[in-house]
Amino acid sequence: MKELTFDNRFVRELPADPEPGVHVRQVHGACYSRVMPTPVRKPQLLAWSPEVAALLGLEEADVRAPDFADVFGGNALLPGMEPYAACYGGHQFGNWAGQLGDGRAITLGEAVNGRGERWELQLKGAGSTPYSRHADGRAVLRSSIREFLCSEAMHHLGVPTTRALCLVGTGEKVVRDMFYDGNPQPEPGAVVCRVSPSFIRFGNFEIFASRGEGELLGRLIDFTIARDFPGIEGDADERRMRWFEEVCRRTAVLMAHWTRVGFVHGVMNTDNMSILGLTIDYGPYGWIDDFDPDWTPNTTDAAGRRYRFGHQPQVAHWNLWQLANAVYPVIGKVEPLEAALLGYADIYEAENRRMTMAKLGFADWQEGDSALVADLHRLLRDGEMDMTIFHRRLAGFDAEPAEVPGGSALALFADAFYSDDRREAVREEFTAWLRRYAARLRQQAVPQDRRKVEMNRANPLYVPRNYLAQQAIDAAGEGDLSQVEELLDVFRKPYEEQAGRERFAAKRPDWARHKAGCSMLSCSS
Ligand code: AMP
Ligand code: MG
Ligand code: MG
Repeated sequence: MKELTFDNRFVRELPADPEPGVHVRQVHGACYSRVMPTPVRKPQLLAWSPEVAALLGLEEADVRAPDFADVFGGNALLPGMEPYAACYGGHQFGNWAGQLGDGRAITLGEAVNGRGERWELQLKGAGSTPYSRHADGRAVLRSSIREFLCSEAMHHLGVPTTRALCLVGTGEKVVRDMFYDGNPQPEPGAVVCRVSPSFIRFGNFEIFASRGEGELLGRLIDFTIARDFPGIEGDADERRMRWFEEVCRRTAVLMAHWTRVGFVHGVMNTDNMSILGLTIDYGPYGWIDDFDPDWTPNTTDAAGRRYRFGHQPQVAHWNLWQLANAVYPVIGKVEPLEAALLGYADIYEAENRRMTMAKLGFADWQEGDSALVADLHRLLRDGEMDMTIFHRRLAGFDAEPAEVPGGSALALFADAFYSDDRREAVREEFTAWLRRYAARLRQQAVPQDRRKVEMNRANPLYVPRNYLAQQAIDAAGEGDLSQVEELLDVFRKPYEEQAGRERFAAKRPDWARHKAGCSMLSCSS
């Protein structure tokens, strides 16, 4: 394959752990440890994203070249690659967890493309590092497919995210605790090459603060601003403060998008929070089928439900508090940090309102809309309605008839309901809500077809529902990657109707409701 241009600023400008080797250790006074990927038995290209390849200036011939799988499976390096694992800490489930770090992720380098854009290439599942703690540094095929598919789907949905270049099978088996049957079986292993301008997390800053390594903390902050936030201006103090505000802003925007599309991250620990406001670390994530703000896909979190759908904006705020505490020693002033944290709530509210307006086809925000939305959310939950299907049907709802008839209005939403009982339980209330909605729409001069087009731009038709990914995973386990490829293609245009692909827009089938992998996943996935 062709060579890439690398400009590895992270390793060039920040201090390295002087100790060689991958033995597990506490790494002090350093931002990263140099470490080579551990070669795998039989690297084999399983899937790739043409869009991400293009970002890197790679063509199909490069991806098909025999050495491509060697490089992105961890068996070879391209000239200019300088692999490392980053040191970071994190708050896990609300508690300080100390040093975590890249336990199975290894950055290969910072590729600079023809447009001067910087894209960090990172292998996930590439073997042990000093941060692997008690685990093996590997990833299983099923989780790797989930990360590969969902990060590309998120991009096409317009949600800020890290990307994925490719999925490489290792030809090796990995054992994971499949808690749901309590019977761990060896599974195929894989490596995903993730791509992002930066993989720096809140936890990269927290670790230095927790250890009182103030100088290093300041260096990492200034490095991050200079490399990843080039638009921020002012003297050093101003830049740091504006940077923190910008992190708050981006995080708020990200949370509003997750709310819009029905994405539940599942493990919003501070080590899984991108400093760029991107969705990062796809683990036991899930998608809302029937609308339930209390749902979390993460079985590890089943009791506390800390990371439930409706709680994500608050958790992000809590995480930003931890970041504020961490950067305080360098910023030195409380008030501007507090102001930025307050600003987070305002920005989330404004973004969420903007997106809610788009989802419901409102041209402006009127008095009474908050109540209309709150009542809708209650109805969607009580009626056990599919969030995605509901909004697509609503776009086709005709607000013109003066009197919305009960039965036929509901028929439009027939396939959004998961149970007849629940539908009957909310029938009257839902019909009344539709009447209010119709009256609300009649107060604005937006033609029906234009409203439909605009709503369909905010409400995806195709989302990576958990069971769809699971079906593709089951086939991939048998060596058939065609479903992964087809899903990748379906999710390329998530807002557009695709002829012959209706089944990908259908609600979750009943068999998938409690099936392993289709609804709940564990952290160790
Ligand atoms: P997560 O919650 O999945 O983001 O992971 C939390 C921490 O565990 C991070 O430091 C990961 O690098 C580490 N980790 C997760 N899985 C593995 C694994 N299989 N081998 C080594 N480290 C892991
Ligand atoms: Mg993580
Ligand atoms: Mg993970």
